[in-house]
Amino acid sequence: MVTVTARKPPRGKTAVPEPAKCSVCDGTGEVSRTVLVGRKRRAVGEQAGLCLNCLGSGNAPAD
Ligand SMILES: [Zn+2]
Repeated sequence: MVTVTARKPPRGKTAVPEPAKCSVCDGTGEVSRTVLVGRKRRAVGEQAGLCLNCLGSGNAPAD
């Protein structure tokens, strides 16, 4: 008895490769940085900054 049928992937559909998310900012393009002030480098808060890994695009760099 043969019940297993080989399934073929549906035709006509082309898989669109999604751009990989930047691992540093998780695709947001922004990273929070701790703001330090004074000689003791006291942390006064966090500031949203441009993600330097993807330069704000949110996509992982190709290379
Ligand atoms: Zn990023």
